[in-house]
Amino acid sequence: MKSSSTDLSIQQVRGVGPQRARLLAKLGILTIRDALTYLPFRYEDRSHIIPISEIRPGDIRTARGKVVACNVVRRRGRKLMIFEAVLHDDGHYLKVKWFNQPFMQKHVVLGCTMIVHGRVKENGSGMALEMENPEYEIISDDADCWIHTSRVVPVYRVTEGISQKQFRKVMFTLVQEHAAALEDVVPIQIRERNALPALAESLRELHFPLSAAHMHDLNGGQSRYHRRLAFDELFFVALGLAMLKKSRKKGRGISFRPVGRLKEKLLRLLPFSLTTAQQQVMEQISSDMQQPYPMHRLLQGDVGCGKTVVALAAMLDAVECGYQAALMAPTETLAEQHYLNIRPFIEQLGLSGDLRSSSSGARTGGHSGECTADITVGTHALIQKRLTFRRLGLAVIDEQHKFGVMQRALLRKKGMNPDVLVMTATPIPRSLALTLYGDLDYSVIRERPSGRKPIATTWVAADRKEEIVAILKQEIHRGRQVYVVYPAIEDTETSGLRSALQGKEAFEKKFPEYRIGLLHGRMRPEDREQVMERFRSGNIDILVSTTVIEVGVDVPNATVMLIVHAERFGLSQLHQLRGRVGRGTDSACCILIAYPPIGEDAGRRLSVMVETNDGFRIAEEDLSMRGPGEFLGTRQAGLPELKNADLVKDAIILELARREASDLIAHDEVLRKFAFLKEQVDVFWNEKADIFRQGNGGRK
Ligand code: ADP
Ligand code: MG
Repeated sequence: MKSSSTDLSIQQVRGVGPQRARLLAKLGILTIRDALTYLPFRYEDRSHIIPISEIRPGDIRTARGKVVACNVVRRRGRKLMIFEAVLHDDGHYLKVKWFNQPFMQKHVVLGCTMIVHGRVKENGSGMALEMENPEYEIISDDADCWIHTSRVVPVYRVTEGISQKQFRKVMFTLVQEHAAALEDVVPIQIRERNALPALAESLRELHFPLSAAHMHDLNGGQSRYHRRLAFDELFFVALGLAMLKKSRKKGRGISFRPVGRLKEKLLRLLPFSLTTAQQQVMEQISSDMQQPYPMHRLLQGDVGCGKTVVALAAMLDAVECGYQAALMAPTETLAEQHYLNIRPFIEQLGLSGDLRSSSSGARTGGHSGECTADITVGTHALIQKRLTFRRLGLAVIDEQHKFGVMQRALLRKKGMNPDVLVMTATPIPRSLALTLYGDLDYSVIRERPSGRKPIATTWVAADRKEEIVAILKQEIHRGRQVYVVYPAIEDTETSGLRSALQGKEAFEKKFPEYRIGLLHGRMRPEDREQVMERFRSGNIDILVSTTVIEVGVDVPNATVMLIVHAERFGLSQLHQLRGRVGRGTDSACCILIAYPPIGEDAGRRLSVMVETNDGFRIAEEDLSMRGPGEFLGTRQAGLPELKNADLVKDAIILELARREASDLIAHDEVLRKFAFLKEQVDVFWNEKADIFRQGNGGRK
């Protein structure tokens, strides 16, 4: 393996010994390259240090002064320890205070000069100025002081045991001695096409900017140099995914060539005709399944758009060709629901079906043993536990985001090479879909079956119970059914939340004439199944539940979704819950009851729900409110961590990077002409590079 000096251990740098190397490792810095791409989180313009005489209350400023007094004050029964110092500069004074930081006494001594950065306040008497817990640095007169003052100075996240100044000095040496040696692996044409500055220049400017002209961009992480580093990362992600996708197309799979007998029968059995979008997607899937390599397709579609029937049709094609098909769901309840939904069709077509869930364990061997049915439904444990298939030809993953790049690769690890169809019900904004699912081909169903009316959504205060009661009565009177969802199963002293158990009692009192059911995750699966069956067959009027019904439950006769404590739910979750109604041709409604205090974010979520039914818009809003980390949550599994790119802010760069990556791979699929780039991509995906090998036709 060719390697460059920048892949050397950080200990090779002057001023870094074993002890410091251990501290740096805590920050994720192991090599010189790691350090060079460890960027400041903030910059301070010390080319403009303000004299104390010019600072004003309310400003955020950097000031310099000599310590002319310092002492420790204790308050509140000695629990609070305040270290105070007075800085002097040309006849003016500034008081600085640090709370409960005893080590300050050791750093700050009379006569030393320090720089402080923070918000300026007027102190109690209104006579003098002060800063509380400012960032600070002690300036000594040694030769390095021009690294730390009289310029735009980088501020890094550091860890205990290494000071800002020490860290900055190490970085200064590094940038001086190694930045130029960091090979710029992005091909020159790509750099020029996208107006990206050179890597070495970018690193120098990001760590020790030459001028204060772009302070604003620098501090916002939006300078052209930041964009360059973001591009690199996103380019590596995109290259990895593009190579994976390409290599899969070389793998040996099953070339399904069904006549379409079963599928045609299915279409005749359906009480509706397919939408154009459904037909298009079915064609894309059929053509994938004919290919000699395994299908890897993602099907995105909002709740209720009719993905299940598309999946079923694909499974029938596989079965017709003599293979088995499996449908995997993220939860037991959803697996059960899917099974109940498709079982009538399986039976009418004369095929065999099987449900593998922990509850069905006694019956059929649960998640171990051999599956012999034509169509097997279960949770993702299907691919992870000791379960074998005789001839698995197609796996459909109804994933609800819970399967990442890695989990999908597990299918291969089992030695199977089936076609894979991944379905997601919560729409994912494009930028995230490109990174999370960039290795897959992509289909989307945007239209909902015709005749569906948008679900009227209202946000009501808790004191308007009577109106709600009237709506429920009216709907149940018309023979319709109602969901009521609570955030918790049971009351607890501390949460103060209304709960499903308590709610069920209240509904029973209020509506003695109605049939009320209860569903939650702590019930035995067979009881849950029974309740769902009663609801489905119309023998329950009001189903009181927790979020276990969030996904997949499909009862077209239910027309009201009442969500209690709606302020407690996330946006995607609310949208999923709402998607449980409006599945028939009848108009449906969603009522959100919120209890104070309703925070600003919660208020915004509820307003968005009232405003729109469009799942893609909701996903964008959700992403911008929570940021990619939270939005993705566990879904991030299998993606390398991004250090300098932000999937929301850098969405445009991501598009560029992706386009360049697929162009490059189209011409040179294993980066033969760009060996060092290839190596960097592998390092970037590090242990995850495994999936590239598995992608290679299952050899390994
Ligand atoms: P999702 O995409 O959320 O999984 P489903 O597949 O559960 O949606 O479909 C939602 C409901 O719409 C089901 O009751 C299904 O039978 C029905 N459906 C599916 N396709 C159509 C269609 N083309 N016309 C009318 N109803 C349909
Ligand atoms: Mg579904």
